[in-house]
Amino acid sequence: MKKKILTAVLMLGMIVSLAGCGKKFTCDLCGEEKTGKSHTQKILGEKVLICDDCYKELKELGSLFK
Ligand SMILES: [Zn+2]
Repeated sequence: MKKKILTAVLMLGMIVSLAGCGKKFTCDLCGEEKTGKSHTQKILGEKVLICDDCYKELKELGSLFK
């Protein structure tokens, strides 16, 4: 019984931390876990979530091909 309650509390804590203000996400480009600004980009028809660093790199790359 006690174990079940503990699991429930732990799960709740995880949900709260996920929904919390510290926006944690995994960058689809470099695969690193990042906090802070995220950018949604459409690359080759697919929606990807990328970090600020990769976004800047992409922007630089994009300017080369223009
Ligand atoms: Zn990245």
